[in-house]
Amino acid sequence: MRDGLRFRHLRGCQARRARPGERPGSLAALPDHFRKECRTILGSAAKPSITGGAVWGEGLVQNTERFVLSILRSAASIGLVAANYIEAKRFLLRERRVFGIEAVDRLTGDRFEIRARCTLNATGPWAHHILRQVTGRNPEETPPLLKAIDLIVGRTLFDGYAVGLQSRPTGDGSASKDRGRLYFFVPWRGTTMIGTYYAPYRGAPESASVEEKDIEEFLDGIRGILPEGAITAEDIRFLHFGLLPMNMTTDRSGVASPAGKPWFCDHARIDGIEGLVSIQGVKYTTSRVVAERTVDHISNKIGARKTPCRTGTTAIFGEAGSERGDPAEKENPGNIPDAVRRHLEINYGSESSRILGYAVARPELARTVTGSQEVLRAELVHGIREEMAQSLGDLVFRRTDLGTAGHPGRESLDDCAGIAAGELGWDAQRISRELEKVERSYPGTAILPARQINTVTEPWS
Ligand SMILES: Cc1cc2nc3c(=O)[nH]c(=O)nc-3n(C[C@H](O)[C@H](O)[C@H](O)COP(=O)(O)OP(=O)(O)OC[C@H]3O[C@@H](n4cnc5c(N)ncnc54)[C@H](O)[C@@H]3O)c2cc1C
Repeated sequence: MRDGLRFRHLRGCQARRARPGERPGSLAALPDHFRKECRTILGSAAKPSITGGAVWGEGLVQNTERFVLSILRSAASIGLVAANYIEAKRFLLRERRVFGIEAVDRLTGDRFEIRARCTLNATGPWAHHILRQVTGRNPEETPPLLKAIDLIVGRTLFDGYAVGLQSRPTGDGSASKDRGRLYFFVPWRGTTMIGTYYAPYRGAPESASVEEKDIEEFLDGIRGILPEGAITAEDIRFLHFGLLPMNMTTDRSGVASPAGKPWFCDHARIDGIEGLVSIQGVKYTTSRVVAERTVDHISNKIGARKTPCRTGTTAIFGEAGSERGDPAEKENPGNIPDAVRRHLEINYGSESSRILGYAVARPELARTVTGSQEVLRAELVHGIREEMAQSLGDLVFRRTDLGTAGHPGRESLDDCAGIAAGELGWDAQRISRELEKVERSYPGTAILPARQINTVTEPWS
């Protein structure tokens, strides 16, 4: 019965993250009355064809930026030299062998070489573009990319359940091609994250932006699921936007989708260029195994010690020895409120004590950022001193979660900028430049988008 339900009924309704005590990936409940419950959860989004549903436990990364930082910090703890704002300008090439890169420090303008027996090109959407210098391929031959957009809306939907539903024609006669897509509605930090909308993109990755027609199509697709007016442009607090490799064959409805598997290339085999490997991933969910295969391939290639990559058994930074549990029952030298300590557990795991260390040493850092209920001022200093944050954007989008679910309020940004200025020696002009840049990342207050919004991760930051 479980398998039958898994394959037949889940098509209509997929449900939320695991509640405490439920095993992720398990079918936790299959009662007969669930059809009714499913309809109650879906409300006006329930289609007559729904015959039932199941509670499906699923994982959710609360803070993807801190997840990436944790991986980097794990690697740094065993010898990786991490650097921020260093741009790979060109490959060092001699007699069809790459022996490193010429790099530029984006903060100082200094140029220098980094030499290596094997260079790994893992520059995401830029991977094919940067290669043109060594392969000589012209820009038109570069595979197309896919714009990927998630909307963050200031509404709680579906009673706190995460739900995946297929977009269907609304019958309003509009000619949207944004139909027949699967959209997820995920409760996240007091908002709902809706995604993912995809649109093909050709061009330089740094020029990509979210355009008005993307948002219109996206909202049109949502209208095919939820009743008219349930979500409007005014509900959009923020956009998560980036580029992914595109699947070269679109599905029956003509909707573009991400590539089915990562692109891996040893350029010795394909282009006759030694010392260079490229990898372009598609999903976080498969990134660990992709990294493992890549590391093992390069180790073999350069004849390094034949120890298999240990990523599969290595706890990432913040996870090792992490004692989950109620923070209220743990020691609290800085008298930090429980809600803040829970927030630190979620974002830093077993490394929360680093943040608390700053808070205990400097009581003014034990306060939350103005306007925030959770983000400690100590997190900002930690981000600057231990995680190479160099801009206000680094702090509010890529080190803390202050700005990733919507605008945190001008007083919060002013407070952050003041702390960063003290740490990094910014003058008044620099402070206002930093504030302006962060403000520009948010949707306009008028109907969206008042202008083009570009929230794609900046290269090299
Ligand atoms: C809206 C959206 C939703 C998503 N949702 C999910 C999801 O639910 N589940 C999931 O598993 N995945 C999801 N993904 C995919 C996931 O984000 C990507 O798979 C992942 O980010 C790829 O990581 P990467 O390191 O390969 O590339 P990237 O994250 O693109 O990183 C590449 C890095 O290289 C840097 N770089 C580029 N050129 C240079 C240069 N010349 N010198 C130095 N540095 C350079 C860039 O600045 C960037 O930091 C989503 C993506 C988007 C955009």
